[in-house]
Amino acid sequence: MKRIIRTGVLLLLLFIAFSGPHRTAADAGTATASFPTVWDGMNWNRVYNYDFYVKRYPSVKKYYNGDKTKVLRHFVLFGMKAGWQGCKAFDVTEYRKQHPAISRLFGDDLPRYYLFYQLYGYKGAQTDLAFYGWKIMSKTVCIDPGHQGRGNYGTEPVGPGSGTRKTKVSSGTYGRYSRKNEYQVVLEIALKLQKELEHMGYKVVMTRTSHNVNISNAERAKIANKANASIFIRLHCDGQDYGSSLHGVRAMTVSRRNRYVSAAAAQKGQTLGAALAKYQAKATGQNVLQLLTTDEMTGLNWAKMPSAIIEMGYMSNPAEDRNLASPKYQDKIAKGLANGVTYYFTGK
Ligand SMILES: [Zn+2]
Repeated sequence: MKRIIRTGVLLLLLFIAFSGPHRTAADAGTATASFPTVWDGMNWNRVYNYDFYVKRYPSVKKYYNGDKTKVLRHFVLFGMKAGWQGCKAFDVTEYRKQHPAISRLFGDDLPRYYLFYQLYGYKGAQTDLAFYGWKIMSKTVCIDPGHQGRGNYGTEPVGPGSGTRKTKVSSGTYGRYSRKNEYQVVLEIALKLQKELEHMGYKVVMTRTSHNVNISNAERAKIANKANASIFIRLHCDGQDYGSSLHGVRAMTVSRRNRYVSAAAAQKGQTLGAALAKYQAKATGQNVLQLLTTDEMTGLNWAKMPSAIIEMGYMSNPAEDRNLASPKYQDKIAKGLANGVTYYFTGK
């Protein structure tokens, strides 16, 4: 018994000796981090180490009383913007000097460098992974969650210079079973898609993030044009006037003979629409019902870049309506669409 106690005391002393203030997770040589690195669904473990960060910036530790979650939050929301170093391996100031091409791409937007390194650059800036990441991080995606809280039944030209006019923005369909409005469902999915794409490194511009807006379909396309977006994705849901049998994903894009959009952009839009529909269906198990070309959609006609309307499913179909309203199913749709975007840009 005495011996056990003595061994216990010895182990305790050894533990105290080796767990002094200078011992860090990095020193310990273990892969298991003793601090959080995931913030808002994004892991920063390749550019952030708590022990390194607070050693470099002791005032942060002091200010947050050593609260590891708050220190991580500081790094993500403030540290990266200020160019503060979060770990030994990545120093943004050095990185910019060493990689002038990447520096031209991101300019003074410092968090983009951390994100690039975290996702694609950590193996080196000349690797296949880095080139793949370059393709993604140089793209801006404009997402338009269709409709809005109240329709605007004024009219506007269906395309630049056109004498034909159409309703500015209608109120959309509604869930016959979920009782949700289309404008609600599409915004919920759009916000998930935004996060999904941002975590992959895309720049994302939203035409709306609330229901209380008044933006016509032409104005939505102009938002994409002004942002110089690489692609314009318009999210909608279908509704059958009579019956409930139809279900599945549809994509609508302009034809190559469109008067307002170049044949090249039209062609690319068709590729985009097909990729989005295919990858959404792959993620959810839905069917691709139709790939339609039409030159009567104001929001497509005004867009200068490849664009597509994705009708994500039928709110008039019992099963699909419930699915579209379910947060877990919406996650699947968002992931599928994000994969479709990446397939469009990278072929992977
Ligand atoms: Zn709609």
